[in-house]
Amino acid sequence: MAAPVAAVARRLRRPIRRSPAWQGPSRRPASTKPPPAQSSAVRDAFLSFFRDRHGHRLVPSASVRPRGDPSLLFVNAGMNQFKPIFLGTVDPRSEMAGYRRVANSQKCVRAGGRHNDLADVGRDLSHHTFFEMLGNWAFRGEYFKEEACSMAWELLTQVYGIPEDRLWVSYFGGDPKIGLDPDLESRDIWLSLGVPANRVLSFGPQENFWGMGDTGPCGPCTEIHYDLAGGVGAPQLVELWNLVFMQHNREADGSLQPLPHRHVDTGMGLERLVAVLQGRCSTYDTDLFSPLLNAIHQSCGAPPYSGRVGAADEGRIDTAYRVVADHIRTLSVCIADGVSPGMSGAPLVLRQILRRAVRFSTEVLRAPPGFLGSLVPVVVETLGNTYPELQKNSAQITNLVSEDEATFLASLQRGRQIIDRALRRLGPSDLFPAEVAWSLSVSGDLGLPLDLVELMLQEKGVKLDFAGLERLAQEEAQHRAQHTEPEQEQGLHLNIHALGELQRQGVPPTDDSPKYSYSLQPDGGYEFGTCEAQVLRLYAEDGTAVASVGAGQRCGFLLDRTNFYAEQGGQASDRGYLVRVGQQDVLFPVARAQVFGGFVLHEAVAPECLQVGDQVQLHVDKAWRLGCMEKHTATHLLSWALWQTLGPNTEQRGSHLNPERLRFDVATQAPLTPEQLRRIEDTVQEAVGQDEAVYMEEVPLALTAHIPGLRFLDEVYPDPVRVVSVGVPVARALDPASQAALQTSVELCCGTHLLRTGDVGDLVIIGEHQLTKGTTRLLAITGEQAKQAREVGQSLTQEVEAATERLSRGTQDLGEAQRLSKDMGRLTEAVDTAMMPQWQRRELQATLKVLQRRANTAIRKLEMSQAAKKSEELLKRHTKGPLIVDTVPAESLSVLVKVVRQLCAQAPSTSVLLLSPQPVGSVLCACQVAQGATPTFTAEAWALAVCSHMGGKAWGSRVVAQGTGSTTDLEAALRTARTYALNQL
Ligand code: ATP
Ligand code: MG
Repeated sequence: MAAPVAAVARRLRRPIRRSPAWQGPSRRPASTKPPPAQSSAVRDAFLSFFRDRHGHRLVPSASVRPRGDPSLLFVNAGMNQFKPIFLGTVDPRSEMAGYRRVANSQKCVRAGGRHNDLADVGRDLSHHTFFEMLGNWAFRGEYFKEEACSMAWELLTQVYGIPEDRLWVSYFGGDPKIGLDPDLESRDIWLSLGVPANRVLSFGPQENFWGMGDTGPCGPCTEIHYDLAGGVGAPQLVELWNLVFMQHNREADGSLQPLPHRHVDTGMGLERLVAVLQGRCSTYDTDLFSPLLNAIHQSCGAPPYSGRVGAADEGRIDTAYRVVADHIRTLSVCIADGVSPGMSGAPLVLRQILRRAVRFSTEVLRAPPGFLGSLVPVVVETLGNTYPELQKNSAQITNLVSEDEATFLASLQRGRQIIDRALRRLGPSDLFPAEVAWSLSVSGDLGLPLDLVELMLQEKGVKLDFAGLERLAQEEAQHRAQHTEPEQEQGLHLNIHALGELQRQGVPPTDDSPKYSYSLQPDGGYEFGTCEAQVLRLYAEDGTAVASVGAGQRCGFLLDRTNFYAEQGGQASDRGYLVRVGQQDVLFPVARAQVFGGFVLHEAVAPECLQVGDQVQLHVDKAWRLGCMEKHTATHLLSWALWQTLGPNTEQRGSHLNPERLRFDVATQAPLTPEQLRRIEDTVQEAVGQDEAVYMEEVPLALTAHIPGLRFLDEVYPDPVRVVSVGVPVARALDPASQAALQTSVELCCGTHLLRTGDVGDLVIIGEHQLTKGTTRLLAITGEQAKQAREVGQSLTQEVEAATERLSRGTQDLGEAQRLSKDMGRLTEAVDTAMMPQWQRRELQATLKVLQRRANTAIRKLEMSQAAKKSEELLKRHTKGPLIVDTVPAESLSVLVKVVRQLCAQAPSTSVLLLSPQPVGSVLCACQVAQGATPTFTAEAWALAVCSHMGGKAWGSRVVAQGTGSTTDLEAALRTARTYALNQL
C-alpha cells in the first residue's frame, strides 16, 4: 500500500504545500449541503461532543495576553496555557495537575513574533490575526493517536456531516537525519477509518512534525484538510485541524529523547470550520464576519463586499473590507484582555494593526471619522456571549479605539499636507526627499508607517528616494549603537564662547517654565499645553551661529521660551516637534533639548529652511514625557522607601530615568538582602496605593535650609528652587514644626512629575548590583511593565515549587532523575535572565541551588546502585578469567563507567570492556585494564580501537577510558574488543 500512497503524495504535495488556500472566487458554495449551522452552534457542538460523548472537561479560553511567558507576544495556540503540563513543571497541587481530558475554544492572535499571519490578512480568505482555535487534549497518555483520530473523524463526518470524500489527511513521513521513522501508526489509523490511500499523504518534518520551541516537547502531527474544489479539477485544500502527538523531548544538543508521558494536543480553526459547514469558500462569508462586513458597508457607502481577491479586486475594496473586519476583532479582543495599542512589544503590534485598519478604512473605503470605534459593538454582538470580557469592557474598547483612530487621522491629515507642500517644490523627475519622509515617520506624534508614506506618494505618481532613506536608517542605527547610554550622549552644545557671546548681546536665558504646564483631566488623562516661541539663535552642526538653516541640515536653536524639558537632574530630555506659525504642515522633529547656562538648546534636522526671528509652535511627545514623569515620581517614592528601609543616613548617589526604566545608585554598607528589596518595593506600592497628590512649588532656596528629612542631591540648586512633596502641600512640608519631610517624600527637584502617586501604577526592582564598593545600583520598572514582571516572577515561583515537589517525591528511575536535574538547569537559566522582582530572583536562585545539588546527588546514588546491580549480574555471567567483554543496558556513559569500575574492584585481575547500545543507534563504550596488565595494554588505546571501529571517538587514561560510536553490528564491535585485548594479554 505504501507505494501508491507515495506516488500520489508526490503528485499532490504541490497543491497542498501551495495552498495559501481560499484565494479563489468565494461566492461559489463549497458544498451543496444545507442547512448552514450558526457559528455559535458549531462551537457548542464541538465542546459538547468532547464533553458529553468523550468525557472531556471544558476549560475557559485563556486571556490573549500571555501570563508569565515572555517568549510570546500573544497567545497563539490552545496549548499555550497547558505548557507546564507538557514541560512537566505543573505544580502538583494545582488544579491543572489533575487535567486528563480537556477541551476548549481559545482566543488566538497571530501577529508579530514567531507565528505572524498579519501580512496574509486581507490577501487571502483563510488567515486572520485573531481567530478561535477549538482544541481537545489528552494528557499523560490518557488516550493517544487512535482515539484522537477517530474522535476527530467522528466529529467531522458524523456530527458535522462533512462528506468523507472532501477530506484529506497528512501524516509524518519520517526524517532519516534525526533517526525518526515514518508515523505509519497514524497512516494505518486513517486507512482503518476508511480514508482511501490516495487521500492519505505523507510529508516531512517541515509540515508534519511540531515542536513548541528549539527545545522541549515535540512530536509528529497529522492534519485534516478540506477540499474546496469538491472533486472538480485539482484539489484545492485548506488545513482544518492539526492533531499533534507529543512523544519526544528535544534536548539542548538537538537529540530526541522519549517523553515520560505522551500527550495529544489538537487545534482546529473555528472560522474555517464554519465556512465549510456554511458551504462557503471563505471565512469572511460566514456569520462570524457578515455582520461586520454589513456594518462597514452601511457606514462607508462603499460598494458591498463581493469577495474578490488579488488582481480581480480592483481598487482593493474587498481587501479593505477584510482587513478592517479582521483588525477590529483583534483590537477588541486584545483591549478586552488588557493589551492596548502602545509603543513597544505586543502593544506596538496592536498600534500597527489599528493604524493599518484606519488606513484601509479612510484611504480605500472612504470611511467617516469615528468609523472604527463604531464597529466595536458589532464585534461584541458576535463574540460577546462566548467571551464575556468583551461585553464587560465594551465602552472602554470603543473609547480607546476611537481616541487612537482620531489621533492617527490627525497625523494622516498633517502628513498629507506636508507631502503636498514638499511636492509643490519638486521638479517633474525629482525623487521625494528622504528627510521629509523620515521626519513623517519618526517624529513622536506623527509616526506614519513608511510604507504608508510610500503609498500616499504612489497615488501622486512620485517615487521616494529609497537610497536616501536607507542612508538615514543606517545613520540612525549607528547612532543608537554608539549611544546605548543615552545620558552620555554629547550632541550639539553651546561652548563657552557661544555662551559669552549670548551674554554680551544681552540675550535672556530661555524661559522654560511652560514645561510645567500640564494638568490632570477628569477622565484621568494628562493634558499638555503647546507653546509659541520665537527663534533667537540658530547654530550649524559645528557650533557656528548662522542666520538660517536649509533643508536636511542638522542644527541647534535657541528660543525665547520652551515647553521642552531639557535633560537634567537625571531625567531624559523631551522629544517632539515644532512647526512654524502659519505653516503648520512642515514638521521639525526635535530629538533632544539640553540646557547650557540657562539657555535651552533644541536639536533638530530641518526639513526645510528655518530663520532667526521665525515664530514657532512647540509640541512635546506626550507618551515619552508621561513615561518620564511616571519614572521620576517613582524615583522619589523609591528614594523614600530606601530611606525608610535602610535608615535616615541613606544617601542617594545618582539616578537616571527615561520612559523605559529608572536607575538609582545608593550608598550601602553591604549588598541589600532579598528581604530589604522586598520591603522597599512594598513601601513604594503602599504609597502608590494611597494615590496621594504630588505637590510642586517654587520657593526661595533659603526656606529649604534646616528642614529635617528634606532630601536633596549634591547639586547646585537654583534660587528659587522647586520642591516636590508627596501628600503634603509644600508650605506645610517646609514648616519645620510639621516634621512632614520625616514622614513623606519631600525633595528639591526640577523634574516633571505625575500629579498623583496612583498614576505610577506599580514599581518593581528588577536588578541590583554593586557598582563600586559601597554603592549599589538598582534598576526598576513601573506601570504595566512592572505588573508583567510580577506575573513572570509568580509563574517562575510556581515552577520552582513544582520542581521542589517533584524532587521531594523522589524517584527510582534514573531517566526521571536526569530530566529533573536538567529542568533545574533550565529553570535556573530562566530565573537568572527573566525580567522579574529581584528579591524573588534571589530567593529562587538560592532554592534552585539547593535543589540542583539534591538532584545531582540523587542521580549519583541511582547510578551507583544501578551499576552495582549490573556488575553483580555480569560477574555471575562471566566465570573468573582475565577478560570480560560484553554488552549491558546503561542509560549514560557515567553509569557504564561506574559498572566497569565496580566490576574491576571486585575482580582486580580482570580487564573489562562494556558496550551499551542506545535507542537512537549510538553505542556507549567504557573499559578498564586489570592492575597487572602489560604496560602496552592501555585502556585508552583499547577504547580507541573499539570506538574507531564504530566510527566514533574515545578518551581516557591508561587505566580507565570511555567513548562513543555507532553501529548496527554489535557482535563485530565486541569481536574487535576481544581480539585487541587477547593480542595484548
Ligand atoms: P496554516 O498552514 O493554514 O497557516 P497552521 O499550520 O499555521 O495553518 P496550526 O498552527 O496547526 O496552523 O493551527 C491549527 C489550526 O488553526 C489550523 O489547522 C487552522 O484551522 C487554524 N489556523 C491557524 N492559523 C490560522 C489563522 N491565521 N487564521 C485562522 N485560522 C487559523
Ligand atoms: Mg500558519
